[in-house]
Amino acid sequence: MIETNDFDLENRIVAPEVIKADTTDDVDLNLRPKTLDEYIGQEKVKENLKIYIEAAKKRGDTLDHVLLYGPPGLGKTTLSGIIAHEMGVNFRVTSGPAIEKPGDLAALLTNLQEGDVLFIDEIHRLSRAIEEVLYPALEDFALDIIIGKGPSARSIRLDLNKFTLVGATTRAGQLTSPLRDRFGVMQRLELYSKEELCDIIMRSSVILGVACDKDGAYELASRSRGTPRIANRFLKRVRDYADVMGNGKVTKEIVKIALDRMEVDDLGLDGLDRRLLTMMIKGYNGGPVGLETLASAIGEEAVTIEDVCEPYLMQLGFIARTPRGRCATDLAYKHLGLLKDGQTTL
Ligand code: ADP
Repeated sequence: MIETNDFDLENRIVAPEVIKADTTDDVDLNLRPKTLDEYIGQEKVKENLKIYIEAAKKRGDTLDHVLLYGPPGLGKTTLSGIIAHEMGVNFRVTSGPAIEKPGDLAALLTNLQEGDVLFIDEIHRLSRAIEEVLYPALEDFALDIIIGKGPSARSIRLDLNKFTLVGATTRAGQLTSPLRDRFGVMQRLELYSKEELCDIIMRSSVILGVACDKDGAYELASRSRGTPRIANRFLKRVRDYADVMGNGKVTKEIVKIALDRMEVDDLGLDGLDRRLLTMMIKGYNGGPVGLETLASAIGEEAVTIEDVCEPYLMQLGFIARTPRGRCATDLAYKHLGLLKDGQTTL
């Protein structure tokens, strides 16, 4: 396997966030499930939402504000669209960084119709000034607008239609507590099991018209880091290999050839993950090593390591977090074929 040190994060094939290759494909919209029943996995979250949605509909009320949190690519946006669909209301989408001025948010809020779902992705990135506008909107469905400046300034209150805010974040801990407290429903999305990812891949292959057998889907699922966005991306990429190198069918063999070429190993680790683990083991004796130290040692941003690499490496049991820093576990040594003294076993 060839290792490259040169990472173009925007195009990293195992990136859980949207990358350039994803956005060029509007077929992706069809891949998003539209109802709770079509949405695979996250059973606890679905059960809870089902009850809240049914109760709100019975009362003829809007749904309480919902906060969805968890790593990228797990279906937060999809689930928010489903909430709107199940409630039978409009779905408006924006994101924390897109709302630059309080006026931007005011314009969005005043355009909402009764019951609409407003989805704010990366809600932890809203500025303080914008959060201030959001508080009365969430609590009293009102906007406090200041007119004029200095001693003659006065505040007027503008009533809004009742709406549901669905906030999504990868970092619930970064939300200010006044904002967090205004969500009636908080649900954490977990990484998906291989079986669930297999079901997602089979469903997507039908929608995309790609022939894919069970073993092929399972092999893809095993390498998709518990993340549907990655699973769907792999499926589209592997389809090309199946067309050129096989008879168009995605099989286990084709998946292996394709993903090995993309430098994604049998557990879904790519060069960046391996670089991170190798640095921990060879550079720091397996740890403990602090996040910032590790980040600068491999020339990556600490947030990238924390949000993108660690959730999956921790789920695999390759990294343990201790109060003194990160440690590589025996499983990580074994996967990389390294001994405790950093020597290779091969
Ligand atoms: P997030 O907002 O958490 O980053 P998205 O909602 O954009 O994730 O989901 C990424 C992709 O994964 C979507 O295009 C969707 O097709 C697919 N997906 C996510 N969750 C599921 C699921 N539970 N069942 C089927 N497909 C899913």
